[in-house]
Amino acid sequence: MELFECSLEELAGMLAQKEISSVEVTRSVLGRIAAVEDRIGAYLALDEAGALAQAEEADRRRAGDEGVTPLTGIPIGLKDLLSTRDFKTTCASKMLADYRPEYDATVVTRLKQAGAVLLGKLNMDEFAMGSSTENSALKKTVNPWDFSKVPGGSSGGSAAAVAAAEAIATLGSDTGGSIRQPASFCGVVGLKPSYGRVSRYGLVAFASSLDQIGPVTLTVADAALLLQAIAGVDPRDSTAVATPVPDYCAALKKEIRGLKLGVPREYFAAGLDPEVEAAVRLAITQLEGLGAEIVEISLPHTDYAVATYYLLATAEASSNLARYDGVKYGFRAADCDGLKEMYFRTRAQGFGSEVKRRIMLGTYALSSGYYDAYYRKAQQVRTLIRRDFDAAFDSCDAIVSPVCPTPAFAFGEKIDDPLAMYLSDILTIPVNLAGLPALSLPCGFSGAGLPIGFQVIAAPFAEETLLRVAWHYEQQAGWVGKRPQLTEEEV
Ligand code: GLN
Repeated sequence: MELFECSLEELAGMLAQKEISSVEVTRSVLGRIAAVEDRIGAYLALDEAGALAQAEEADRRRAGDEGVTPLTGIPIGLKDLLSTRDFKTTCASKMLADYRPEYDATVVTRLKQAGAVLLGKLNMDEFAMGSSTENSALKKTVNPWDFSKVPGGSSGGSAAAVAAAEAIATLGSDTGGSIRQPASFCGVVGLKPSYGRVSRYGLVAFASSLDQIGPVTLTVADAALLLQAIAGVDPRDSTAVATPVPDYCAALKKEIRGLKLGVPREYFAAGLDPEVEAAVRLAITQLEGLGAEIVEISLPHTDYAVATYYLLATAEASSNLARYDGVKYGFRAADCDGLKEMYFRTRAQGFGSEVKRRIMLGTYALSSGYYDAYYRKAQQVRTLIRRDFDAAFDSCDAIVSPVCPTPAFAFGEKIDDPLAMYLSDILTIPVNLAGLPALSLPCGFSGAGLPIGFQVIAAPFAEETLLRVAWHYEQQAGWVGKRPQLTEEEV
């Protein structure tokens, strides 16, 4: 087995035993990138020399036993909406194609403090708007399991990189499913933390009341290790709360006997692909075999979640994206006659069509006369959706469901039909509206060989519970860690 194929946990163990060095791990991952990246297209920026320098520094830290953590010397990739001093931060948009921040996001600072090796920046849907990474203005990323299929989105680069072993782990962001859905399409683990668990400082905002940063990894234990490093209060983000960060790794192995797992009736409705349903139902049966108690629950307002999300997220986006006007930073249209024309042309040329669609939808929902009918109403329905979950957690400890109604779809299949694309988020969006933590992990493959994802949802700040349920399932089922075949030697 090559080093690039190992999990973060395995590498951390070997590094701690001094069986390997970070330079060796980093060289191995860089070699893998060189072998497969031209076919996968996960990276928007890669700094090989910088990565090796960080690896040497990590090896020095380890030799001197200075501030060593499980992440010291581990090569990690970042979704390209996390602000980095060392790399451009493009959000896969023409608007920010040459933008290099003056500061690091808090999660980036924390990874640096932990001694991680930051490899580069990963492709995504423009400003995180999309479910397939087809909205990137800069690059095409394919699904490593089948190059004719999308990797999911918006963190498509983050998920494809882990699946193709082009990074040991990555960070993504999830506003309506953007960590969990690409993780499920690419057969890896994705964790969206509770709203407020991880600082958003330096995360380029899409919809501030929904956005969260989280890990994309090969295994559940790896997600626990990465979350441990990035979670916690931050004076720079008032929404990152002071709730103590528990020891996530210690939580993994606690028995799940007697835990009550709720199966929401509404998440197994018409439109769910039969292969996805069968794989998820089998996973639930296996968890029952491990001693969990399965209870049927209802989340009655599920049908309204997509509409609610696409009013609130677009409203917040229209406000957040107002800053890209060509004045202070980012793209500016050339040869304009006056300020007004400069604004118009900068925004017309700098944004792609999905971003423009959302700005228009959000501006409409917030405009006088429509605010009460749309925005206020959506806020009220958001409360009802949160209350559905509050009530459900009275009768269960965690909720289990599919991640997406189908496995990965083909390029072009939904891109011209925004509504079909939006509807594919039906099973992930309610979690963001309610601020809950949720995790996606592999639970099998379709007949066509595409990964299928299983979602575990917990109450606010109960990441320990979802990691524990997922870890026990992972040990039992043996899907996690399966890789697509990409190079001749692997055949
Ligand atoms: N697919 C959803 C959207 O297009 C979610 C995106 C996200 O989570 N960033 O808005």
